[in-house]
Amino acid sequence: MFNCNFKRSNTLNATFSCFVINIIMLQMYRSSTIPGHSPVPPTFKPPNTAHPPPNIPPGYGTDLYPAENLDPLNHPALQMEEISRNSKSNEFSYITKVPNYRNLRIKNRDDKYYCNICSEYPSPMVPRGKIIRHRHNSSKIKRMYSTTLKWAEYNCTSCKTTPHSHKTGVRYPVIVTSSILNNWQGKKSGYPGDEIHVDIIGIPGATIKMLHHAFLAEFENSYRPVDVLLVGGLNDVMKGRPLHKIMTDLNNFKRDVIALKRPSGTNGD
Ligand SMILES: [Zn+2]
Ligand SMILES: [Zn+2]
Repeated sequence: MFNCNFKRSNTLNATFSCFVINIIMLQMYRSSTIPGHSPVPPTFKPPNTAHPPPNIPPGYGTDLYPAENLDPLNHPALQMEEISRNSKSNEFSYITKVPNYRNLRIKNRDDKYYCNICSEYPSPMVPRGKIIRHRHNSSKIKRMYSTTLKWAEYNCTSCKTTPHSHKTGVRYPVIVTSSILNNWQGKKSGYPGDEIHVDIIGIPGATIKMLHHAFLAEFENSYRPVDVLLVGGLNDVMKGRPLHKIMTDLNNFKRDVIALKRPSGTNGD
């Protein structure tokens, strides 16, 4: 279950609104002469409004993403851009790889099912050196390698608000699933998108152990707390894994999620 509160703070919203109102007033002032007032000098250049300010990140102002401590007099939009850039760079800094991962990648470059996330990560769930082949849908990895847009935003495929900041909150809500909920939004026909950003790891055909391994490959060294919703187990049942072993796999996964518990909002981004 996700731990969120939708009480919204309007600090950033109000800042942007004031900014827009100021521009409109300046433009009105410029186009008409008010009795008793001088017209705006011809040297006045209206700001470049070709790019709107950054979107307010989904969930901003909730417990998931409390409002940033922005200085309203010092370009809040630029401060949000900096926060987004820092967040992107922090996500890159905590990925763990086996020492020979480059060789593995070169050796398997023609294998379209080679999973560089799971094959290049060491964990007790998978024998060392085992090449893992599957389709691995990861919103976090897509975010990390996405094109950086104006205001350091990226195009998010699951949120209602997009593009948005690389910072998605002070916690990571994550759905970890086999094919059951993988790509659950489909083409989003009639569905506008999520109100808060939720990451997903979706691996069709994966057992609980494989989902556990994939989760650690992406989040083991996360500097943020992670809230996990695991939706899987059908592949274990279909492969005839005994119930008591499935329960052990689930408990091991839970143990490692709880072990990631760490204070949120401590990394300065
Ligand atoms: Zn994988
Ligand atoms: Zn999003």
